[in-house]
Amino acid sequence: MLLESFKSFVRENVPLAPYTWLHLGGCARYFAEPADFEQLQGLVAEASRQSIGVRILGGGSNILVKDSGFDGLVIQLIAPAFQKISFQGNRVTCGGGVRLSHLVTACVAQGLAGVAHLVGIPGSVGGALRANSGTEEGDIGHAVREAQMLRRNGELVSVTGKQLAFSHRRSSLDELAILEATLELQPGDVKYLTKREQTFWIVKRSRQPNHPTRSAVAFIDPDGESAGELIHRTGFSGLIEGSVQMNATYPNYITAGTGATADQVLTLLERVRKGVLEKTGVRLQPHLVVW
Ligand SMILES: Cc1cc2nc3c(=O)[nH]c(=O)nc-3n(C[C@H](O)[C@H](O)[C@H](O)COP(=O)(O)OP(=O)(O)OC[C@H]3O[C@@H](n4cnc5c(N)ncnc54)[C@H](O)[C@@H]3O)c2cc1C
Repeated sequence: MLLESFKSFVRENVPLAPYTWLHLGGCARYFAEPADFEQLQGLVAEASRQSIGVRILGGGSNILVKDSGFDGLVIQLIAPAFQKISFQGNRVTCGGGVRLSHLVTACVAQGLAGVAHLVGIPGSVGGALRANSGTEEGDIGHAVREAQMLRRNGELVSVTGKQLAFSHRRSSLDELAILEATLELQPGDVKYLTKREQTFWIVKRSRQPNHPTRSAVAFIDPDGESAGELIHRTGFSGLIEGSVQMNATYPNYITAGTGATADQVLTLLERVRKGVLEKTGVRLQPHLVVW
């Protein structure tokens, strides 16, 4: 095994499909769930020395793994060491492996406003920060004041203030792993925030497929437009490729059925992208990250 000295927590040839919402794709050559920062850092540095590609897996809600799999190391920050949440005044510091919905609920229970609208977005805080996830009510990035990341060579880096930049579904937090972030929120009333969280949850559920697992968001909304509306207007909602379909009711979601493959997803996305470009001149950018 190439990563011999880490074999106590590194597995080989691990199927990635069960870790992703689309349930598609092949194996990772190596898969690790380090128990703490030291294990993570040592492993990443060694992978770098051996020129092994590394990817960080969050909740798997925005990843399409190719059918051929990933010939490198996949790391999931699932251990308790990456799941911590702590509060100091109006600030919350949160591990990259925390589920976004846990962070939202913890902040609401603490009487902190500013993230309740993120309830119902699947995945981890790390994934949300990487994609600057959000809704019409706002993105997560607006609240971030500080973040700690791990570089590909195993070096730790902290970023604050002007080094932080967020735009629609884009963020400057682009080192290998987002380990932790501090968000600044506003004081609020727990009862009121709980109601808001519940309302946002109901609205969110009404705007996405009923059975969201095996679904994924296809494209990023282009400037000032909704990708879903564009897809609908140009007649591509409901489009089918093999066992994969652009959702007919929620046009910017792609849904995988029994027998679906990652190749079918890629072909369908390309057909829609090309078709929308030809009909409207708008170049849709993929939301899904392809591994
Ligand atoms: C039903 C459904 C509804 C959705 N609704 C929304 C929505 O309303 N708004 C929205 O913005 N998105 C939405 N999404 C998309 C998706 O949930 C978000 O992009 C989410 O933030 C991805 O987080 P994740 O942990 O699942 O990331 P993953 O899918 O695991 O990973 C996505 C990318 O983030 C990187 N990443 C993950 N964790 C880390 C980390 N700790 N450090 C560095 N990189 C990391 C991965 O390497 C990968 O490149 C939805 C998806 C689904 C399936």
